[in-house]
Amino acid sequence: MALPQIEGYVVVEKIGAGSYATVYKAYKKSGPRAVVAIKCVEKGKLSSTTIENLLTEISLLKKLKHPNIVEMKDFFWDDKYIHIVMDYCAGGDLSNLIRQKRRLPEKTCRRFLQQLASALQYIRSQNVSHMDLKPQNLLLASRTSPVLKMADFGFAQTLKSSDHSSSLRGSPLYMAPEILLSKSYDAKVDLWSVGVILYECLFGKAPYSSASLDQLLEKIKAHAPIEMPSSGYQVSAICQDLLTRLLQHDPAVRIDFPDFFAHPFLDLQHAPDEKSLEKATKLATEAVQADQEQNHLRAIQLYEQALLFLKPLYDAETDESKKSALQVTMNQYRRRMCELKTLTCGSSVSTAALRSSDSNFEELVRLSISTPSLHNALELGVVAEQYECERSYSVALEKYQSCLAILIEHLPREVKGSRRQHLLHLQVKKWLKRAEVAKAMMELPEDEEFSLDSKGKITKLFFVALKILLIIIVIIFNADNCWMQ
Ligand code: ADP
Ligand code: MG
Repeated sequence: MALPQIEGYVVVEKIGAGSYATVYKAYKKSGPRAVVAIKCVEKGKLSSTTIENLLTEISLLKKLKHPNIVEMKDFFWDDKYIHIVMDYCAGGDLSNLIRQKRRLPEKTCRRFLQQLASALQYIRSQNVSHMDLKPQNLLLASRTSPVLKMADFGFAQTLKSSDHSSSLRGSPLYMAPEILLSKSYDAKVDLWSVGVILYECLFGKAPYSSASLDQLLEKIKAHAPIEMPSSGYQVSAICQDLLTRLLQHDPAVRIDFPDFFAHPFLDLQHAPDEKSLEKATKLATEAVQADQEQNHLRAIQLYEQALLFLKPLYDAETDESKKSALQVTMNQYRRRMCELKTLTCGSSVSTAALRSSDSNFEELVRLSISTPSLHNALELGVVAEQYECERSYSVALEKYQSCLAILIEHLPREVKGSRRQHLLHLQVKKWLKRAEVAKAMMELPEDEEFSLDSKGKITKLFFVALKILLIIIVIIFNADNCWMQ
């Protein structure tokens, strides 16, 4: 098919087609040859709904500015077409990536989900619901850097606080049951779609993948159980917990937005952004200070918190020299943290800092005596904490995961609104978080062993070295930013 002529642009190739538009790769004839994507809708084919969709999309894209939302550069029309000019996303869309790789490692899924959640958090702050979230509408900025961009706001809606829509929009496979069953629905439909997307990233197909719409409707009506393939797939308890809570048919039971944004699998708090390094540096400076003042427990906590910001930055970094600078710094902090843990571990204070020895936990243990499997799982959690305290992160993680798998299975069976259910929920949240910390610590990149001082003594020079490391990191990152501007 011939490529369209677009005034002021050289159209290179067709890159996609969706429900009402064709998208082309193009570059501007004048000025810097920036590559763009142009979404074209043929005027002759326009129904009044298409016009409405297009106008929604244009007006929304104009006001939405976020690193994980595709940016609109311009829009215009000629006698045949209406055009939306956007940033070109060279990595294609997420559905292509899933098809190519069959399924994505949990770590990658998590990074994508963090970015999707970050975009969702932003559009919610603008009172917008996407309404057509699916892998085809999630683009990847480039082939090398996995930056995800939410696109295609053609079906999006600006929701008033009590808006419950009831017209059919979006793609059936990713559509929440309440839409498919023609019930009224609200912004939470986006969360169901997020669940389907996460499932598809992990397992390579949608949970209710069907040959026809009728088959899909049958499964939805029958409330068909959503199975998680087990053989060959290692999905963490934290990830499964989020998946199960997103894929709830009943929107009232489905996880809500605040709990979704706060879920430990996403760990949005530590998601890499322009402020991460600043936060990590501040924490690390405080850690070194506490360390110098021999406030070991506080120092451990602060080093750990700094590492939780540095690790995602390290994962997302594509520049090799920056990556190794981060690695050296992280290794230093981890070593120091480990040394401090050895110094303090076993002391009652340190165990109390980590252990669930709060009254809630004691009460939960008492309330669980009548349910041996639950009781045993709680004991397993305590063992996990002990391993964590001893820095055996992989064993700790394994124990946390086994314990959480049992606890999470128990949760829906608890009497609704009961004290035990409430306490169990709190404990699960707490251990999910601890499991994440153990995982992050375990995954820190290793370098060759070296000791700071043959006798393990901490000299003044050591603290100076830690501070210098911080300064170097800040310089490397800032120098680059200045250069880019
Ligand atoms: P529709 O509203 O018709 O579904 P989309 O905006 O979803 O149109 O675009 C259709 C397809 O075109 C997408 O699934 C994607 O593969 C591709 N595409 C859209 N926008 C871009 C872009 N900015 N960069 C690269 N590819 C794009
Ligand atoms: Mg689309």
